[in-house]
Amino acid sequence: MTLELAINGGKPVRDKILPYGHQWIDEEDIEAVSGVLHSDWITQGPKVAEFEKEFAKYVDNKYAVAVSSGTAALHDACFAAQIEKGDEAITSPITFAASANCVLYQGGTPIFADIDADTLNIDSVEIKKKITKKTKILIPVDFTGLPADLEKILQIARKNNLIVIEDASHALGATYRNRKIGSISDMTIFSFHPVKHITTGEGGMITTNNKEYCERLKLFRTHGITKDKDKLLNYDGPWYYEMQELGYNYRLTDFQCALGLSQLKKIDRIIRRRREIVQKYNNEFKDLPEIKIPQINPVNSNPAWHIYMIQLNLEKLKVGRREIFEALKAENIGVNVHYIPVHLQPYYQKKFGYSLGDFPKAENYYSRAVTLPMFPKMSDKDIDDVFAAVNKVISYYKK
Ligand SMILES: *Cc1c(COP(=O)(O)O)cnc(C)c1O
Repeated sequence: MTLELAINGGKPVRDKILPYGHQWIDEEDIEAVSGVLHSDWITQGPKVAEFEKEFAKYVDNKYAVAVSSGTAALHDACFAAQIEKGDEAITSPITFAASANCVLYQGGTPIFADIDADTLNIDSVEIKKKITKKTKILIPVDFTGLPADLEKILQIARKNNLIVIEDASHALGATYRNRKIGSISDMTIFSFHPVKHITTGEGGMITTNNKEYCERLKLFRTHGITKDKDKLLNYDGPWYYEMQELGYNYRLTDFQCALGLSQLKKIDRIIRRRREIVQKYNNEFKDLPEIKIPQINPVNSNPAWHIYMIQLNLEKLKVGRREIFEALKAENIGVNVHYIPVHLQPYYQKKFGYSLGDFPKAENYYSRAVTLPMFPKMSDKDIDDVFAAVNKVISYYKK
């Protein structure tokens, strides 16, 4: 029996939309936040340092600096790395725009290097081709939660005297060669947006083992202003402070840090459930010829899956990605696409002259990509609904 697709007027698999990602907030989180709201310090109080300390401990690194978003973390890291006009930073076209925009904020130029078609992460061979005298930074992205090829990337960086800012917005809790993500690159950034592994509403963090970077990161987070006596050029009295650099207000509040601390206590459960869901998806879809699933057992790492990407085998389907996407949406499955290649965004095309064809592997991936819902609070019934909808839509449209 073939079921009528919801898009053609049939009954949808679900009555209500299943979102692609969702936060996991419980009573403990709410109590932690409300405790701070009842206290004297709702910002710039003790919770910030406490969250930073616990976070650094969790990722196994010396320093963590909390900021107001993952984007602020990227911007701050570019400042700490002293990116300036004329400098180039190499990143992946398959990422959120912020991984490249942060370079522009400081006057530098983002350069893209194509992805590896299997891992979907930036390809170290492509990075080498893009290095020039102007290159200063590499920004690998641990896309979907699968760590980038960090060993090769760090080798390239050391050989060419480059700084590595790893965008680990997707990969909190992942390991690479048995080391925690957040302890490997010169600086690693994280995001606490609600769809990410842990949330503070909006929020971000930079981790590093370099004291100098840590100090610059903290300076930039607060307007470039310091009160540190050892750093002041002059001293007029106890009120005295100096603005030594152009910074921003990128601070994270105490109640957000309290939420972050409370969320961090659940991180192992969160990651375990995400891995479990990926396993279930993989088992269900691995033998479906119309779908390519993510790399199941990467050699060097244990991913902390943030999103579950499938690639449609369009050659075996009667319709394109758009029709499959719309059909799944009509079944009330909250599909998404991560990401439209950054170089194809109108701003980047116009400013840098990029066009279709510049990064063939990234573009090919994009043309087939569909993100399926995945978040730790998803029930087994939700997962079964995704199976049912995907199987229904694929069997209807297969050649
Ligand atoms: C979420 C995300 C960011 C930005 O984080 P915000 O907290 O939303 O500013 C940057 N890079 C990647 C890869 C992301 O997924």
